[in-house]
Amino acid sequence: MTRVCWACGARTDDDSRVRCDCGEPLWLETDPDSVPDSWPTSVESMWDVLPLLGVPAPDVPAGLPTAAGGTPLLRTDSLDTEGVRVHVKPEGLNPTGSFKDRGTAFGVAAALERGEHRIGTVSHGNMAESVAAHAAAADMDCTVLVPADIADQRLAAIARYSPRLVRVDGDYGRLYYESLAVGQDAGVRFLNSDAPWRVAGQATTALEILTQFANRGGGSPDALVLPVSSGGHASGTWQAVRTLTEAGLLEAAPKLCFVQAAACAPIAAAFARGDDTVTAVEGGETIAYSIANADPPSGGRALAAARATGGAVVAVEDPAIERAGKRFAAAGLAVEPASATTLAAVERLREDGVLDDGDEVALVATGRGFGDAGAAVDADRVDLSALGSLFDAGASR
Ligand SMILES: *Cc1c(COP(=O)(O)O)cnc(C)c1O
Ligand SMILES: [Zn+2]
Repeated sequence: MTRVCWACGARTDDDSRVRCDCGEPLWLETDPDSVPDSWPTSVESMWDVLPLLGVPAPDVPAGLPTAAGGTPLLRTDSLDTEGVRVHVKPEGLNPTGSFKDRGTAFGVAAALERGEHRIGTVSHGNMAESVAAHAAAADMDCTVLVPADIADQRLAAIARYSPRLVRVDGDYGRLYYESLAVGQDAGVRFLNSDAPWRVAGQATTALEILTQFANRGGGSPDALVLPVSSGGHASGTWQAVRTLTEAGLLEAAPKLCFVQAAACAPIAAAFARGDDTVTAVEGGETIAYSIANADPPSGGRALAAARATGGAVVAVEDPAIERAGKRFAAAGLAVEPASATTLAAVERLREDGVLDDGDEVALVATGRGFGDAGAAVDADRVDLSALGSLFDAGASR
């Protein structure tokens, strides 16, 4: 599959290349002429919408890789904010609890098609779980590189799929680049955050949202809002809307709006400054740990995506993320803090005039956060024989 550079247009067929000589990440070449001229009528999995991206589809192995995507699009009026009509894409419904399964499924299918059986990733969160699970299901050799100080709970969540787990001392940001070089020498395909195959698979989140809007007779959304860390998911989202507008299936691109946690917001800072490139920051602590990337490898591409579509990149503080998480829960949706940022961002985007009264906006609730429901809480305890007492007057809440 030919890869191209979004920034300088360079092309390559060399399978080992995932970044351009200019420094920017490559993505798969898309052919708008190969895009079907109507929307798919059903969205049972990501593979139903992948043809809309205009890339060659890999053969999909049976089992787990067939299960990614196909998440519903919920109209959640209780989350409407400042006149903005909110729709939620609950990506926690994916097999391992996040949208990462879309990219992993594509990456694993493409690797197996090339006869590659050794994969790896650099992650201590959802991507590690996703890659390890898919490797286990396909009986592939899997190496997961994690930071030395990873929390026990996170390590345990990854370890249940029995990958080769390696704690790495040193600058975790550099590890992304080192893993690509080491993997190339060792014959291990690293499906990192913005690998071209991962980006193509993750483009299906947007392809599904746009298909679901179209099938509902609702035209297309005014904006998509998603949390951004490495910029890989944002890149796939841009690749999707670019291809569909070029193919003529979409009249105009929705505004692509990206959110970061204020404690670690290099892309939002570059957007606010009007810069064309993203400068690494000294990242701080945030409850939205899944999106704390101080030196995002696809930051420049995410920045370009927001600008090209009239969107924005904003940062939200932890207390606002917490409040948004509670609003999601009140709507019956458990989402991890990284995903709750999207609802917090709606207020900001409305204030900034990026969103208008009456806009239809899809929030991508990227992950369920199975392994992190927060600290232990005290619960009432009662003996079976006294169960009735729970519902005595005054004891109900
Ligand atoms: C990985 C992840 C993100 C960020 O995605 P990027 O492609 O790295 O920008 C957001 N939310 C959740 C839950 C994630 O796991
Ligand atoms: Zn380039």
